[in-house]
Amino acid sequence: MRRGAIWFVLLSLLVVAVIELRAWFDRHPQDLPWTRLDLHDPVGRFTAAKLAALGSSPAQCRSLLSAAGSPDRPAPSRTAGTECGYEDGIRLGLGRAREAGFSPAGLVTSCPVASALLLWDERVIQPAALHHFGVAVIAIQHAGSFSCRRLYGRNAGPWSEHATADAVDILGFRLADGRTVSVLRDWRGSAEEQAFLRRVRGGACRLFTTVLSPDYNAAHRDHLHLDTANRGPAGWRACR
Ligand SMILES: [Zn+2]
Repeated sequence: MRRGAIWFVLLSLLVVAVIELRAWFDRHPQDLPWTRLDLHDPVGRFTAAKLAALGSSPAQCRSLLSAAGSPDRPAPSRTAGTECGYEDGIRLGLGRAREAGFSPAGLVTSCPVASALLLWDERVIQPAALHHFGVAVIAIQHAGSFSCRRLYGRNAGPWSEHATADAVDILGFRLADGRTVSVLRDWRGSAEEQAFLRRVRGGACRLFTTVLSPDYNAAHRDHLHLDTANRGPAGWRACR
């Protein structure tokens, strides 16, 4: 009789645990590798891997962007040589769901990069700017996306993610009050500038599969390199 009661309690606990786990799964699709990405979901453990995987589903990527209210528009495909080019180009716009423009304007990236930049602006950059400076960021200063080159501009070796527009280099941020925060000048700037730049770097690490900053090496002293290299569904990322 006593043994029966113990089993009853153990089984009840198991049932409760399974129900709780199911409820947690339903509330955290962003932390599970097998759920479909929705740009309205909170950013989670597998968001960056799912954004990178959109590289092989251009139609799904474009529909996610428009469902998120993105002002971005498809750009013509481009090829250069045998190794470079893209078919899922997106011309980044400004407006609903995208608060900061890009400077210079007319930036074209792959669709996964455009999607990750949309979330970076809304979820990371704007809250960080309001927190540290009390104003919004109105422009993200960049050094381009597409560039037909190998890693570090070498003559041999692997091709850069820039060769397929799956990367973007960020130089700094222009605030609504006219100030700018530059990676080169302010990585070791005031306490607020340092905190802001590290916070936007950390937030990017949850959206891009590769983030390289001045902490990584001298080649990145003046920019944040962000890319959506496909590192597989396990959620591997490089954040330096
Ligand atoms: Zn780069």
